[in-house]
Amino acid sequence: MRSLMEIMVGSCEDTGEQLSAHLEGELTGLRRLRVRLHLAGCSVCSAAARSLRKTIERLHQLDDGFTPGPSPSVVPAVLERIRESHQE
Ligand SMILES: [Zn+2]
Repeated sequence: MRSLMEIMVGSCEDTGEQLSAHLEGELTGLRRLRVRLHLAGCSVCSAAARSLRKTIERLHQLDDGFTPGPSPSVVPAVLERIRESHQE
């Protein structure tokens, strides 16, 4: 059974799915709030967010002047690798 807190801040799985959108500034309103609350209280996801943010910044620098953002296929793969490394 999910606790009230879990419903409020979302699970690690929910947050992981929305992390790249959050870091790209694509989330709004309640969805953004949930991710931010979760990151504030979850060291695993906040560490993943920091790694992913660095990766996204690097991709943006590489892509600067060529495309508006990272290739959509890159971010989920990176995120998956971060999450796997935390589960070990
Ligand atoms: Zn989490």
